[in-house]
Amino acid sequence: MILQQFFNENYNKKIIHDILLTKKERGKGKKITMKPSIYGLTLDQLIAWMAEKGHKKSRALQVWDWLYRKRAMDFPVMDDVNSDCIEVLQDYFVIQTLQEHCRQEATDGTIKFLFKLADNHLIETVLMKHKFGLSVCVTTQVGCNMGCSFCASGLLMKERDLSSAEIVEQIMKVQHYLDERQQGELVSHIVVMGIGEPLDNFESLTNFLRIVQHHKGLAIGPRHITVSTSGLADKIVEFIDTGLSVNLAISLHAPNNEQRVQIMKINRAFPIEKIMQSVDYYLENTNRKITLEYILLKNINDQREHALQLAELIGDRRQRVNVNLIPYNPVEEHAHFQRSAKETMLLFYDVLKKQGIRCGIRLEHGGDIDAACGQLRSKQLKQGK
Ligand code: SAH
Ligand code: SF4
Repeated sequence: MILQQFFNENYNKKIIHDILLTKKERGKGKKITMKPSIYGLTLDQLIAWMAEKGHKKSRALQVWDWLYRKRAMDFPVMDDVNSDCIEVLQDYFVIQTLQEHCRQEATDGTIKFLFKLADNHLIETVLMKHKFGLSVCVTTQVGCNMGCSFCASGLLMKERDLSSAEIVEQIMKVQHYLDERQQGELVSHIVVMGIGEPLDNFESLTNFLRIVQHHKGLAIGPRHITVSTSGLADKIVEFIDTGLSVNLAISLHAPNNEQRVQIMKINRAFPIEKIMQSVDYYLENTNRKITLEYILLKNINDQREHALQLAELIGDRRQRVNVNLIPYNPVEEHAHFQRSAKETMLLFYDVLKKQGIRCGIRLEHGGDIDAACGQLRSKQLKQGK
């Protein structure tokens, strides 16, 4: 069953197209079969796969340790793993499939990576430095179909979902980069806030979360992981039912349906009432707080009346809801959206506070690079790189 799930994920009709690549530059038009990355396996799946090939659980644990603790980039370096095992692993898997295409470093330590996938699509991953540790923002899809009208990612329709291996590998690539710096730095937090709607790529997301959380591997705990969604209410409920218990952030961005539907077309399928029902489900089924994200857009949703409406919407849930106010990161193609003035943002914050709402204004990272989700990627695509 577990294996089936893995092979379904990696070999199903949709993904097979992405795995059996036509590598024109290497094969001159000949099809070259790419093996899947072993990063897509949870530890249980690896143990089951190795058992099928006649290898003990202890060997699977050794390989897992090499992957996530010793951070091997190739199988032959696993020098205490027996050679038959290395051979069989090499027959079926590779470790790395992503290539660094370019990197932008900001003065505050934020680093934005643009990775090239095996089928040449480009994705973004961002490393951020905080007082509490190092967080990585991962991408879950190539493009996004949700079409939010303020977002750079929404400009580029979804080409495909990422596999769980490709999401895990983003973390590993960043960790390998940190290892190279030799300062003993470890990725301590993950935010699933890059390009794409994570709950629209459910299987890959949940597998990814199981892999990075495992205590014998990267051991990044659920309280250190935040998944952000545009509010697919039915999927939020399904996600809560998995028991993965990571932090959840919902992109609300407007306090009423009339306004929300103008900027987020997904609001037609999941209006605010449905979202609030899923918020209640989260609060009933976890002992955690939930975050509502709210981009402040000049003269659109940033007035006092909007803050009051938002406070009313949150109502009795106020002890367990955090509002995260986000300064808008201007996107060239969406010139009609502008960032609210600092004073307006502070005023909005004050009104919420006076209503007893827990809230903060998101500190910006990488102000001097293309830091909003999808910006670097869309710029590179426009330049035809
Ligand atoms: N698709 C998911 C997660 C990725 S986007 C979601 O929408 O929640 C992560 C956050 O960045 C979301 O809250 C999104 O609305 C916000 N965002 C998108 N474009 C932005 C921009 N130009 N400036 C500031 N925040 C932006
Ligand atoms: Fe997709 Fe999120 Fe951008 Fe909306 S804000 S288009 S859901 S990535």
